[in-house]
Amino acid sequence: MKARNPRTGEEDYEFMRSTREEIASAAKRLRTAQPEWEALGPAGRAKVLLRLADAVEKAAEPIVTALSIDTGRRTVSEIEVQGFIGNMRRWAGRGPELFAGLDRGPKPSATPGIAIVTHYSAYPLFGAIAPWNFPVILSHVDAVPALMAGCAALVKPSEVTPRFVEPVRAVLAEIPELPLAYVMGGADVGEALVEEVDYVCFTGSTATGRKVAEAAGRTLIPVNLELGGKDPMIITASADPEWAAHVALRASVVATGQACQSIERVFVAQEIAEPFLKALAAEAERVELTHPDPAKGHIGPFIFPAQAEKVQAQIDDATSKGARVLTGGRVEQLGGGKYLRPTVLADVTPGMEVMREETFGPVIPVIIYEDLEDAVRQANDTQYGLSAAVLAGSLDEAAKVGARLEAGAISLQDGALTSMVGDATNQSRKASGLGPSRMGDSGMLRFLREQALIRQTGDPLPIDAYAERGARA
Ligand code: NAD
Repeated sequence: MKARNPRTGEEDYEFMRSTREEIASAAKRLRTAQPEWEALGPAGRAKVLLRLADAVEKAAEPIVTALSIDTGRRTVSEIEVQGFIGNMRRWAGRGPELFAGLDRGPKPSATPGIAIVTHYSAYPLFGAIAPWNFPVILSHVDAVPALMAGCAALVKPSEVTPRFVEPVRAVLAEIPELPLAYVMGGADVGEALVEEVDYVCFTGSTATGRKVAEAAGRTLIPVNLELGGKDPMIITASADPEWAAHVALRASVVATGQACQSIERVFVAQEIAEPFLKALAAEAERVELTHPDPAKGHIGPFIFPAQAEKVQAQIDDATSKGARVLTGGRVEQLGGGKYLRPTVLADVTPGMEVMREETFGPVIPVIIYEDLEDAVRQANDTQYGLSAAVLAGSLDEAAKVGARLEAGAISLQDGALTSMVGDATNQSRKASGLGPSRMGDSGMLRFLREQALIRQTGDPLPIDAYAERGARA
């Protein structure tokens, strides 16, 4: 298979697609290694994860380089690899504490004479399927706590961004006791992975998430889905308009808007709408593309070219229905890459595609509201419920509005904080996800199966206890 460089447009990287047999044999190898890994205990596993974190830190350069070729962005790639390292260190610290805090019993039951002991064991083989927008972070965000729990982990990165796997595999060769492996390829490889594992975490689009959930239903394994979003930001009349513009811009366009928790709809109070839009357009104009010099500027090319077309189609749909483009508005072909300057859209209406479908680009549609009730209603009027944000004159006011939004995580006085805060437990709502939170302690605890050892401390009942006593039916 080939991967495309989003700056040059060239398919300049070749990698081997895993065959069905290779996937099955990787799964078998991991299953064989898993009991020994689990037997290491939480402290033993934490030590190995810390060694991996150190080894990745030492070999960060080739990993960052591979990642930045696939994504067209250098600083974000550095942040991603640091995030991967931080994730390992965080779980290596928190994992053993969590195991120590598990209530194993024995504890008395409400049933007389019975005491309960709980035994915890990990799902033997965990599987992850990841998207292309943050390839390293999202391939490992669930795999690391699964490993900490005692699972072996089989990971399928996106076929669009596979380059980081080669340098990470080189690091893993130094740590043979860690049961972590990668399979490479597209949908068919993802399908095969689901058939091999005991628990699957999927991050990607809602459409594919439904298919993965169906497949997991067929093999009856637990599935966690982290899917798309259409995150709203409400800006109330008491917010400072320039500050709000500053926050809204970053939260919408960082990483070219290719982030699930990007702000994709802005609702601003009529009282401050004019200065807000003026400041937002001015801030948006200041954002520079990382072309021609990849070492300068703020936002890079679209990673996946079809995404650029989808985003342009949404902008065109909006303008054909009366939206005004204040900045940006047109995908530019520069070198071999497709870029879009931050695109602020005014006069948008709820029926436009850009207000209903996930955009995944640096587009900021702005709706002016007169009535806060109506803004809350419109913000909740979506199939998605990933995250949301509120900006107001005070934290208290923002919190009151935020509590009414139907989403898994609400950023107050900022936007798109979800991905930066690893210990903020949250569950995506509606078509944005399914299952326990990947953030917070449940990020690891979900991979432990509870087994009840039910102790009889009195006399077991005789069959006579169930004998018919002559009562008429
Ligand atoms: P995608 O759904 O197209 O692909 C995701 C992964 O699924 C890829 O590895 C792909 O090869 C694999 N896949 C495709 N078909 C499959 C099948 N039938 N069975 C098993 N696996 C299959 O998503 P994408 O375009 O790579 O990523 C962008 C999407 O991801 C956006 O919708 C974005 O919002 C979402 N996302 C969500 C989160 C979150 O945490 N909620 C984070 C990042 C991205």
